[in-house]
Amino acid sequence: MEGKTLDVFEIAKSQVKTACDKLGLDSAVYEILKNPMRFLEVSFPVKMDDGTIKSFTGYRSQHNNACGPFKGGIRFHPNVTMDEVKALSTWMTFKCGVVGIPYGGGKGGIAIDPKEYSKGELERISRGYVAAIAPIIGEKEDIPAPDVNTNGEIMSWMVDEYSKLTGKFQPGTFTGKPVDFYGSLARSEATGYGIALMAMEAAKKLGINLNNVTVALQGCGNVGSYAGKYITEFGAKVIIVGDHKGTIYNKDGIDMESLIEYTNKYMTIVGFPGADPIDQNVLTAEVDILMPCALENQLTSLNAEDVKAKIICEGANGPTTPKADEIFNKNNIVVVPDILANSGGVTVSYFEWVQNLMRYTWSFEEVQEKQKILMKNAFEEIWSLSKEYNVNLRTAAYMMSIKRVDMAMKRRGWY
Ligand code: GLU
Repeated sequence: MEGKTLDVFEIAKSQVKTACDKLGLDSAVYEILKNPMRFLEVSFPVKMDDGTIKSFTGYRSQHNNACGPFKGGIRFHPNVTMDEVKALSTWMTFKCGVVGIPYGGGKGGIAIDPKEYSKGELERISRGYVAAIAPIIGEKEDIPAPDVNTNGEIMSWMVDEYSKLTGKFQPGTFTGKPVDFYGSLARSEATGYGIALMAMEAAKKLGINLNNVTVALQGCGNVGSYAGKYITEFGAKVIIVGDHKGTIYNKDGIDMESLIEYTNKYMTIVGFPGADPIDQNVLTAEVDILMPCALENQLTSLNAEDVKAKIICEGANGPTTPKADEIFNKNNIVVVPDILANSGGVTVSYFEWVQNLMRYTWSFEEVQEKQKILMKNAFEEIWSLSKEYNVNLRTAAYMMSIKRVDMAMKRRGWY
């Protein structure tokens, strides 16, 4: 029986293997891709507010850099493990490949609950972590970004720490920075905007009437809130939203702008006056589109049969287990996979990095337009590939991406 303790790294490897087999690639390709090229575990001391010293463990995984420098976020979450970071870095390689941006995959994390620390402590933890991983990151080597529970403020401290350590100001070493400190316009919105775009593209393909689309949203952090906001702008109705504390419902559609304001203040959706609390699992709600935008392993063999949505658009990384994927295939539920659906974040991180290297800034509209073109093209290509090979969108996305990584590895003479 499949539970919530599934090893995400095993899942990531099985997804890569399936696509390698479908493409009939040389066995060397999977042999190279099954493990990160480099994995660093660090332990560093930090002074707490009460004067005591506490030691923290952090990781940075560099999966593959055939296509360019490693790229991927840093996560602060109590469930961070070595295997989770390895899986997330593997997904980053293929996420970058899906949109064809010149990066490989990386990921980092510290197993902490940031709510347990003061702002000063969090700043010292962030700086300590950067000092510890500094030997392997850099503007042209490995470029971290925000992930779960990290943000622009943390990226700014990290840029400062790294610049001090190296004696050179290098803002392009981290992306997802605040707009007034070398960040890019449209970066905060990018992941959610992309998810909404991809969900609507899938709805169009299925011939669903776009004016009556109903949506269920799991998670209302940076990713979920903008996904909900943009899909509402595109004409859909978000009728049910769930977070770690509860679920809310409004059959006429939840006003996402007000909900975002509310969650910024109260850190939860619970108690939001524009909707009613409801005793219903958001994942199995009666809607057209489900957007899981929280954490991995949410849709498993335990609940997949109960999912009623026609489309699942994966905002989170790895929300669906392989068993659940099989069930969705059988039930004709279209899953827009994470490596395509949430690739908007890293895509605009790439635009931020390009602007940083050029010391130049693009307008909000210009950035969003560039993102839209890349993601819509990727969607079309993956859709066609899935028809051509008669595989689901996840396998098609991996196939398209692995072809790119494979070509780079071949050109470099890695096998
Ligand atoms: N953490 C995000 C992701 O999982 C963004 C990574 C980045 O911008 O480098 O895709």
